[in-house]
Amino acid sequence: MARPGNKIVQAKLVLLGDMGTGKTSLALRFVKGKFHEYQEPTIGAAFFTQILSLDEATVKFDIWDTAGQERYHSLAPMYYRGAAAALVVYDISCMDTFNRAKKWVQEVQKQGNPKVVMALVANKTDLDPKREVQNEEAKQYAQENGMLFMETSAKTAHNVDELFHEIARRLAKVS
Ligand code: GDP
Ligand code: MG
Repeated sequence: MARPGNKIVQAKLVLLGDMGTGKTSLALRFVKGKFHEYQEPTIGAAFFTQILSLDEATVKFDIWDTAGQERYHSLAPMYYRGAAAALVVYDISCMDTFNRAKKWVQEVQKQGNPKVVMALVANKTDLDPKREVQNEEAKQYAQENGMLFMETSAKTAHNVDELFHEIARRLAKVS
């Protein structure tokens, strides 16, 4: 619900990262509050909307999810075009996905808008016993690239709302 007198920010948010890192699951957790152990890789319309009301603004997210095209490590320019925010997701239990995340970050920096609000999302924290990517390394990388860093679990819902709230706050600030 929009609060009266509040500014409204409409923001396209793109989800990036390797296949299987939990992009669709994060979107579904945030938008629907649900999680599926056997998430279909190509499920759905690849498009979600969600509204967050902050004190300073109402942020309307248009969330763009991939339908598996990330398998080919490239996405059409229209996917990034006009994006105000980008979430680059990796799986803490798979080092390869962190290395790939860095490539996705470069991709956004190359193709996107220089003011884009970016976050590096360390997903699947519930798999901590199988962790391959240390926090400190990822956090430092995020810092060097001016990105928010957030550890999440779409499975347990850990930090998922916090992630989108922080993105919304940053969008409200730059809009
Ligand atoms: P996408 O390809 O990046 O969209 O990844 P999906 O959302 O399809 O998730 C891939 C697989 O990882 C699915 O089996 C999900 O159930 C699982 N998954 C997603 N997020 C988490 C998480 O936070 N923890 C665990 N344990 N599994 C997750
Ligand atoms: Mg997906």
